[in-house]
Formats: sequence, C-alpha cells, structure tokens
Amino acid sequence: MSLAETIPEKLQSRIDNIISNVEPNPWLSEAEKASYIVKIKALLKQKDAVVIAHYYVDDELQALAEETGGYVSDSLDMANFGAQHSASTLVICGVRFMGETSKILSPEKTVVMPTLEAECSLDLGCPIEEFSRFCDQYPDREVVVYANTSVEVKARADWIVTSSNAIQIINHLMAEGKKIIWGPDKHLGQYIKNKTNADMIMWQGICVVHDEFKLYELEQLMKKHPDAEVLVHPESPEAVIALADFVGSTKQIIAAGKKSTADTLIIATDHGLFYKMSQVVPDKRLIPAPTGGKSATCQSCAHCPWMAMNTLVNLYETLRDTTNTIEVDEQIRQQALIPLNRMLDFSYQNGILTAGDA
Ligand code: SF4
Repeated sequence: MSLAETIPEKLQSRIDNIISNVEPNPWLSEAEKASYIVKIKALLKQKDAVVIAHYYVDDELQALAEETGGYVSDSLDMANFGAQHSASTLVICGVRFMGETSKILSPEKTVVMPTLEAECSLDLGCPIEEFSRFCDQYPDREVVVYANTSVEVKARADWIVTSSNAIQIINHLMAEGKKIIWGPDKHLGQYIKNKTNADMIMWQGICVVHDEFKLYELEQLMKKHPDAEVLVHPESPEAVIALADFVGSTKQIIAAGKKSTADTLIIATDHGLFYKMSQVVPDKRLIPAPTGGKSATCQSCAHCPWMAMNTLVNLYETLRDTTNTIEVDEQIRQQALIPLNRMLDFSYQNGILTAGDA
C-alpha cells in the first residue's frame, strides 16, 4: 500500500476529534449584533483595515465585508484583492490557509483572522513531512497542490492550483509531457484526471463538507424537481459529480446559476454560498444538495465547521487587540511565492483571472 493510501486514514481520527471539539458560537440578539457591527466599522477605519471574507463564512460577515468596502470571494481572489488593496491590515474571514495565502502575497501587511483555530480538513490531512516523503518517491513528477494547503506544502510544490484553474493547468503540464503528483483532494484530483486523462498519482485527502453529499438522496431530490439544474463543486464524490449539469468552483457555480434558465437550482457546496447566490439570482429557488438520509453520518451538514468559527465577536476582538496575526517564515514564503506566482501568471495569461477580479 502506498504512503498516500495510508496517511489520511491515520489523520482522520485527529480531524474527527478536532471537529467534535469545535465550540458552538455565542448566540447574539439582533441588538447585540448591531452593536458589534458599529464597533467593528469604527475599528476598521481606525486601524486602516479591510475585511475579506470567503463565500462560506456566515451571512453577517459577508454582508459586513460588502458594506465596508471589503470583498467576498474564493480563496485566490481573496488573496489577490488583499494584495491590491491600499489597507495596511487585512482581516481574513475564512480558514488558516487563506490567511497564509494572503500573507504570502502581502508580506508587508498585517494579516489577522478572527480565529487561528479555523482549519481545513484538506490542509490538516496533508502534513508537510508525510507529503514531502511521498513526493520524494516520484522525483520525475511535477508536484501540483490545491490552494487548500499549508504554506510549507505550497513551498514544496511546483504548481499551486484552485478549482477554477486546475483543469487548464493540468492540460498545460500534459502538453509539456509532464506526469503529476496531485494533492490533497482526491475527489477533485479524480475529476481532473477524468477530464484530462493526465497521468496523476494522488494524495487521498477529502473536504469534510463536500465528501458528505449523498448520491441516493440527490437522485430522490432530482426526481422531486425534474426541471432543476444541479450545480456541483468538484470536491464532491465522483458519483455525485456524475449527476451534475454543471461542475465548477464556487465562483463558477455563481456564474452558472446566473446563466441558468432553470427556476430551481440544486447546489452541492457549503450552504454559505447561498448568501451570494440569492443576491445574484433572487427569483430562483435554491435547494441544498442532501448530505443526510437514512444512512447519514453527517459531520458538517453542508457547512464547514471551521468557517463557522468566524463570528462578529471574535472579529471585533481581533481588530480591537490586533491579535491572531498570521506569521510566515520568510524563506518558506519566498519558496511558496514561486508556484503561487506561476499560477497567477498562468491565470492572467489565459483569461481565468482578469485585473477586474481583484
Ligand atoms: S469547506 Fe472543506 S475545503 Fe473548504 S475550508 Fe472547510 S474543510 Fe476545507
């Protein structure tokens, strides 16, 4: 059995343990929320800070980012926006690798997060020591890693990709005759392999949110809504992807929803995306793809337990005290910047990113 088939199993119990110990968020009345929002807005001005939020954090944080001149998007766009914004402090509402990616691109800025405990099962399931040993076994292959990885894993990679640009980058490497080591998401890796026929050896990580979408229950839901279009994120299991009318990243799912002529959309991704989706297609009926059912073992129920750790309260405290600062070793940052810039250059050259995206 290869290293890649054994490591994530060992790590799974650690990930399960972390998820089961995530504390529930404090309940706030509407008046308390309004009071925190007023205080946060004042601190943002005072500290020359901007809020940059991922689509999967709670609605109120996404709304706050929008209201205060910040930004809501996917991880690559978040880091890109932060690098181009004039603020000296970036407040990243998301999970740790997103704060690190922002710091890689903006070393001169202070990067803070509402909590440093917000992790990602893909990042946790791909520790640098094990991944590096795995890569060392195949020195003739290009190491391609997903953005959902630590700065150390990024520094070990030849290429970094996101779900928006992975297929184009793998096609580009194939055209150069390259073989691939892919990490860490096995479902996204399999999807890309099916699409490109690339020679890929895969790390076996999963996203605890997308891995839970259920085939049988989705089929039943589709029977109830035969005219619905099904939009699926490629971190979902292969059988669920096979039922999709559209497969793509969060940003691409939003664009596909906008283009769709269907009245009803069934969406297989974190339900945080519904905030933005309902702004973009207010007249459509949006239905979450099922994660439960008779045999449910749902841990996240379509909402990332780590994204949910970002709250108005810890955002306020972080800004007030300038705590939860992201620090990255300069040598590792420089190494990680190489594959990151390679991806950004490729994305701009191929029209996947435009100057207006950030
Ligand atoms: S939704 Fe999945 S991929 Fe995204 S941060 Fe959470 S665990 Fe990681």
